[in-house]
Amino acid sequence: MAYQTINPYTNELVKAYPNASDADLEKALATGHALYKQFRNEEPASRSAALHRVADEMRKDEDSLAATITTEMGKLIGEAKAEVELCANIADYFADHGAEFLQPTPLTTPAGKAYYAKQAVGIIMMVEPWNFPYYQIMRVFAPNFMVGNPMILKHAHNTPACAEAFEDVLRKADVPEGSLKNLFLDYDQVDKAIADPRVAGVALTGSERGGASVAKSAGEHLKKSTMELGGNDAFIILDDADWDLVKQVAPQARLGNAGQICSASKRFIVVGDKYDDFVDFMKTAFAKVQPGDPMDPSTTLAPLSSAKAKAHLQQQVDAAIAAGAKVEYGNTPIDSKGAFFQPTILTNIDRNNPVYNQELFGPVASIYHVATEEEAIELANDSSYGLGSVVFSKDAAHADKVAQQIEAGMTFINMSWTTAPELPFGGVKNSGYGRELYQLGLNAFVNEHLIMSALAKD
Ligand code: NAP
Repeated sequence: MAYQTINPYTNELVKAYPNASDADLEKALATGHALYKQFRNEEPASRSAALHRVADEMRKDEDSLAATITTEMGKLIGEAKAEVELCANIADYFADHGAEFLQPTPLTTPAGKAYYAKQAVGIIMMVEPWNFPYYQIMRVFAPNFMVGNPMILKHAHNTPACAEAFEDVLRKADVPEGSLKNLFLDYDQVDKAIADPRVAGVALTGSERGGASVAKSAGEHLKKSTMELGGNDAFIILDDADWDLVKQVAPQARLGNAGQICSASKRFIVVGDKYDDFVDFMKTAFAKVQPGDPMDPSTTLAPLSSAKAKAHLQQQVDAAIAAGAKVEYGNTPIDSKGAFFQPTILTNIDRNNPVYNQELFGPVASIYHVATEEEAIELANDSSYGLGSVVFSKDAAHADKVAQQIEAGMTFINMSWTTAPELPFGGVKNSGYGRELYQLGLNAFVNEHLIMSALAKD
């Protein structure tokens, strides 16, 4: 895949980037491996200051870093700035807590004196998507830097400038060279890196298709991997929901980042007799967003990331309609060179509809009506995905009981889906495996090294 910046608002090519050579890859592996050996002999706490500097540099450069995202994948400039701030928070969080998370853990055994140390394992091959072009890198970078695992980054073909900008932040923060090396690799080179004995693990965020392919390569070479893949998250509105709260949250839970969020609410499931009211409310809310230049802070609908992404979403919506889905709102073209997709609401999606079990990666909401809570849970779980979910009920214990029955890695009660450095992120089923962020994310690639000695004889 050619690495290019194509502005999805103007559909113009901004810059093309040459692919990395095999020699570039070998150099990155050699530098990363030498750094791993150095990091192994240093205390994790010695890296905290550098990670705080990364946070500082990101905040200092927020405007230009955000503009690079918006130019490259179309995100609204306000959302792009929020992403930069989130990255700085993640860096600060792991700088503050990484060393403490990596403390040795004592073990109780009658057989001797034992503990396990948490040690670095080697280079991590990181494969990342375009939808949060810095945040996805930071979720892997900050914890693994504290652990002492150097990283090689293969970013998405359409966000090369963001990859370079991230590397530039690290350079300005004076992070040791080789801590993260961005390379414009092709798929074969990614496989080659995974096969290399100096690479100890693979972290991918992306689609099921990309994840399956890279996980296969990791399995073939016995490399540990984490997979953060797509979702088709349910937003369950129980019949005792606080409707004022639902209305505050529901539209943005779908429309944020122009609908291109793995853990966005995609399937709205209404229990009881307020279904028609909810559909009307969502139509009115979706009609309010205004397409325009994503650099303009007053714009409320961004283009999708590319003309290709728009064409793919249109194909899915067309197939849904052909199979009987009803368009309640939207699905009309927006007159622009940009990759805009009008917010769209679909209902009447039955189990045989192709989109019933597909991720729609754009501003398209599916709304379902069910009679009972049991049906809502069954529908939510009738998916090959299991990333996030949302439950609304005025009764916290009731919502909690429902939340525990959802097959998902994350459930949010009476609030939108969210992410923060201290909250583990990830899914089950075809949404992948492993967790990023919090201590669980930091543990993804550590050697839990048992060290045991015989009890001294009296
Ligand atoms: P994608 O096509 O799988 O691409 C993701 C990354 O994987 C890109 O860098 C891509 O490179 C690379 N890739 C794909 N196939 C590969 C292969 N065979 N070998 C090596 N690298 C390969 O995913 P996308 O469509 O860009 O991203 C959107 C998806 O990511 C959505 O499904 C979304 O839900 C998911 N996502 C999940 C999370 C989560 O935390 N669970 C977070 C964000 C996004 P190229 O760009 O060069 O093809």
